[in-house]
Amino acid sequence: MDKPIPKQTHDAIVIGAGIAGVAAIKALKNNALNNFLVLDAHPAPGMGTSGHDHALCHPYIGRGASRLQRLSMMAFAEAISIWASHWSGNGVFHLSRDLNHFNKELMSERLLSQGFNHLNAQPLSAAEAKEKVGISVAGTFFPEGGWVSLKKICDETFKDLRQEQKQLSTVVQKIERVGDLWHVYDAKHMLLGVCPRVFLTNGLGVQPLLGQLDFRVPLKPVRGQLSTFGYAQTSSWAQRQPKVALSGKAYCLPPKQLQNQSYEWTVGSSYDENSDDLNSWPSSDQENLDLIQEMLNDNFNATELKVVRSFVGIRCVANDRLPIMGPVIGHPGLYTLTALGSRGVMWSALACQLFTEHLAEEMRHSTFFDARFLAGARLAATGLSDDLVSALLPARFLAGVSNSKPILPSA
Ligand SMILES: Cc1cc2nc3c(=O)[nH]c(=O)nc-3n(C[C@H](O)[C@H](O)[C@H](O)COP(=O)(O)OP(=O)(O)OC[C@H]3O[C@@H](n4cnc5c(N)ncnc54)[C@H](O)[C@@H]3O)c2cc1C
Repeated sequence: MDKPIPKQTHDAIVIGAGIAGVAAIKALKNNALNNFLVLDAHPAPGMGTSGHDHALCHPYIGRGASRLQRLSMMAFAEAISIWASHWSGNGVFHLSRDLNHFNKELMSERLLSQGFNHLNAQPLSAAEAKEKVGISVAGTFFPEGGWVSLKKICDETFKDLRQEQKQLSTVVQKIERVGDLWHVYDAKHMLLGVCPRVFLTNGLGVQPLLGQLDFRVPLKPVRGQLSTFGYAQTSSWAQRQPKVALSGKAYCLPPKQLQNQSYEWTVGSSYDENSDDLNSWPSSDQENLDLIQEMLNDNFNATELKVVRSFVGIRCVANDRLPIMGPVIGHPGLYTLTALGSRGVMWSALACQLFTEHLAEEMRHSTFFDARFLAGARLAATGLSDDLVSALLPARFLAGVSNSKPILPSA
């Protein structure tokens, strides 16, 4: 006799309790789909790459209005709104890569052509930068830029969940669609839940689960190490240090003064493709020092800094460097959010809004739309065009699939 098919136990199951999982949780809650279950292999949320306490965020300046540039403008706007209560900082100063050829007028024109204005992106000469941000290097100041603790966002999101909405220390080994529902299994083939929707928000772990469904996504690990350096109040660097966060070849938080008056300065991040080693490497701390030296030239003297501690994480990166988000074509009710690369803060925020609007449309029409991401009226009004949405979908990796279907704004 056939085994009886288990009945639906949840509205949705979210696999992965990092910042991508938080985006999915928020989107479900925004649609009052509260009977969900979040599963994670670790004993606490935010113990993967989202264990990061200082994730910087500012929009990207492209050579032209590339897809990455346009998407990052929208994603940044979502990030400062969605993560507002976690936002820290007083702006990010982005240093020009080519210091010898920085032209303020040309940069100003370029910024305006990419949709920035004089308030949200300010090109500064070296002399102006010294006055405003504390270092004599030309670049562009983003007054709204800042950073968040991804770990804290994960922790607080989980604290608010009911006990029956979360199950930690649980590795998902398999997902399978049986009839109209998804079955989710652990490593011992125990059924963890049955639901119409599954969100794969588990970083590199998305690859084997989608692989079981013959859906291949080209993901790779990129190891990164963030170094915190210490130096004395009497050091020459303490007299010349920046007043705000910096970005460029390296990412730097503003220096933090401790109770004993000495300083700590967090700087990142090394970039080791195809490595998933979570051990701290002295060579990566040195690499971070070298990056600041290249970025700041004579303004910086590395010899005064000593390593205090490091954070190591493994970025998940797609071969085209864009995040992967949206419904998985051919698998109704299956969604993913992965490949957030080095921009977890902004991509998770954009995804949260897109999933919120997509789920609302699906529920309105009582059907799954797996071939496209349905942006609602709000995102469509911000200029989220068809080609941009298509560039995010998992389907972009399938040969012969056309992603160019229209976005359907909400009525
Ligand atoms: C050194 C470094 C510096 C960075 N700096 C910045 C920055 O300045 N700004 C910025 O925006 N971003 C930054 N990032 C990137 C950011 O940290 C990531 O993009 C983000 O944390 C990825 O979140 P995630 O939820 O996709 O992955 P994770 O946080 O790794 O979450 C995935 C979760 O899935 C779980 N999981 C995996 N497989 C399974 C399974 N089979 N069953 C159950 N659970 C599973 C894991 O346990 C994990 O908790 C940085 C990254 C690094 C490494």
